[in-house]
Amino acid sequence: MTERLELKAYGKINLGLDVVRKREDGYHEVRMIMQTVDLYDRITMERMESGIRVTANLPYVPDGEGNLAYRAAKLLMEEFGITEGISIEIKKMIPVAAGMAGGSTDAAAVLVGVNRMFGLGLTKKELMERGVRLGADVPYCILRGTALSEGIGEILTELPAPPPCTLVIAKPPVSVSTKEVYGRLDLKALRPEDHPDIDGMAEAIRTGDLAGITSRLGNVLELVTEPAHPEITRIKGLLLENGADGALMSGSGPTVFGMFKDRRQAERACALLREAEGGALTRQAYVSGFFNPGPGHRTAGTQPEKKGGGRDASI
Ligand code: ATP
Repeated sequence: MTERLELKAYGKINLGLDVVRKREDGYHEVRMIMQTVDLYDRITMERMESGIRVTANLPYVPDGEGNLAYRAAKLLMEEFGITEGISIEIKKMIPVAAGMAGGSTDAAAVLVGVNRMFGLGLTKKELMERGVRLGADVPYCILRGTALSEGIGEILTELPAPPPCTLVIAKPPVSVSTKEVYGRLDLKALRPEDHPDIDGMAEAIRTGDLAGITSRLGNVLELVTEPAHPEITRIKGLLLENGADGALMSGSGPTVFGMFKDRRQAERACALLREAEGGALTRQAYVSGFFNPGPGHRTAGTQPEKKGGGRDASI
């Protein structure tokens, strides 16, 4: 029985994000190109006698029941009648309330961790089915890599890894509510050219066409978030002026990423961003890259997938 686990919970960006329609139940149907990035929270899970304890190292991330990681542990522990307890310590690196699925990925890692720690034997698919009850992005955060995400985010089609490039990821010091951004999107006012070319993006990824990817970067939610937070436009401008082949807001924002072929240019642009406007434009700017788990990778830092078991191997 595993006593202690240390997991990496990776964040994501959207290379493309389109909203197709609003359903009668209020949810928005989306078409998104999801990409895991090499920027992660560290999660330490330890057995204890009883209960669930969740702590995070930032004052504005909720401890206890308000944390999505708590709800992830509770979901599996209740279903499997686990009476032992678990403590979960979260070290945040992924910007919070920023369009990078930080809460969802912590929850995904905890599902994987509880499965492993208590030997529940659930497959990746079974964990993903449970994850969607916690949030539409949780199944993707279990899957990771590059994927087309449809429906409310739960219908996933895996794509190959795009050609490597260096990313600069920066969050201006403003927080954005995902719910509010979707609420303010006026679908009827959108012109055809406002919708990003999601199918073209998926094809460019399939054929390994980096220029085709950068030329198709598009996020319909920029229309809502960018006018409200002009820092986003200024970060994109700085990235593009300093060598980025493309720059885009991720998710509902306000995080922005730039794609660079040249790592040194990316490092320079990142340093410039940190100094820009007397340090006020962003306090969170990172050089990063795509993260695509390969064969034999460790799922959420736990164990390699079983050989021959494919996607249905117990994780
Ligand atoms: P998404 O891209 O999925 O919309 P996001 O990146 O915009 O998510 P999160 O970082 O998940 O947003 O944070 C949204 C809110 O969720 C935070 O304001 C915080 O109060 C709450 N929250 C709950 N659990 C966590 C967690 N483990 N990490 C970060 N935020 C959490």
